[in-house]
Amino acid sequence: MKSLVGGSVGIGLVLVLTMNTGATGAEPAYQERTEERLAMVQDQLEVRGITDPRVLEAMRSVPRHLFVPAPLRDVAYGDHPLPIGHKQTISQPYIVAAMTQLLQLQSDDKVLEIGTGSGYQAAVLAKLVRRVVTIEIVAPLADSARKLLAELGHENVTVITGDGYRGYPEEAPFDGIIVTAAPERVPQPLLDQLRVGGKLVIPVGAYLQELEVHERTESGFTRRSIFPVRFVPMTGEVEKEPPGGFRPDDGR
Ligand code: SAH
Repeated sequence: MKSLVGGSVGIGLVLVLTMNTGATGAEPAYQERTEERLAMVQDQLEVRGITDPRVLEAMRSVPRHLFVPAPLRDVAYGDHPLPIGHKQTISQPYIVAAMTQLLQLQSDDKVLEIGTGSGYQAAVLAKLVRRVVTIEIVAPLADSARKLLAELGHENVTVITGDGYRGYPEEAPFDGIIVTAAPERVPQPLLDQLRVGGKLVIPVGAYLQELEVHERTESGFTRRSIFPVRFVPMTGEVEKEPPGGFRPDDGR
């Protein structure tokens, strides 16, 4: 079941686009919609094995509807990703929760996200840790996420406009790194910026992608495959890598 859920991006998008009536733009921006969030957590997350109480609480509290374009706010709590413009998407709630849970974060941690998009995942992280740095390559998305996160009072998040391929050495090492756009191979700079015990949660692959968790140990890295997913491709410097070739973590 997990693989179906993880792989449902395309289907979700088609459904949602046909459901968009455009009739919801007039609702008050800060309308609470708490009941929908509670139902989302119960029906989409708890039943699929999200058990970390802190992650569940963060998912109950972040107003996801404010992170989607106004005409899609009605369907913001559905079990699917949604388009956010610039050919990008906000992930399905379950994927956000599953990736967050895989990071196994502590409240004093510092986390790096590559692919800010709407800023929703960053807001969820901001509820859980001391410091979040998030990098977005599409400037208008970075700008609107920065503005919304500030409006919501997330002072512990910094949105950087740029290519996240090389991570953020200025604040490395990180306790967790989460990547929400898929490279074909794991960028070595991201592995290098994990502290010992820190985890990188990342979708890897071209059309067929696998969600992977890489953990830095005293002697190297471990790699675990979680389930198949569909994310938008990572763009920028990663596209200049030669096709094929070796994966920096192969054989470990
Ligand atoms: N985490 C987001 C969803 C992200 S969609 C959310 O919660 O809404 C993936 C995002 O990664 C897109 O906005 C895309 O522009 C961005 N992206 C793709 N390649 C990137 C790169 N090299 N560096 C930073 N961001 C990148």
